[in-house]
Amino acid sequence: MFEVYFDSAAMAKAEGHFRQAAAKRMEAIGFFLGSVHSWKGEKFVRATDYVTAENDSTSVSVRFATGAFPRLAERITGKGLIVAWAHSHPGFGAFMSETDVRTHESCFDGEYNYALVIDPVRGEKKVFKVDGGEVREASFAVVEKRK
Ligand SMILES: [Zn+2]
Repeated sequence: MFEVYFDSAAMAKAEGHFRQAAAKRMEAIGFFLGSVHSWKGEKFVRATDYVTAENDSTSVSVRFATGAFPRLAERITGKGLIVAWAHSHPGFGAFMSETDVRTHESCFDGEYNYALVIDPVRGEKKVFKVDGGEVREASFAVVEKRK
């Protein structure tokens, strides 16, 4: 069993966003929405949609633009929990920087909050979780949505 299951359509949406930004040598950020499930006492997360709003990016940093929040809230409302935040590191690898760890700890501290970091240039994709200040890689799978 994996910790996070991403629907392939949601992952494709995120990767499209990240590739588009990478073409301009920019990072990008967004949220995965979904739900928490359990199977035989083990919890796992399903990420079923990717949403974003206007980004304020450079080649080495990204955040949501001031003013993006009402639109973002609109896109999140009623679609499930934020189960992961996702951002790109175009060309410098999929890892959690010190800033990323701080961001995760201050904004995504829930038991079922994960961080997805993608390097669309190198084709790297990793999921992380921060437990008590320690970063660890989390297992994940990208799956086709059940028909
Ligand atoms: Zn980062």
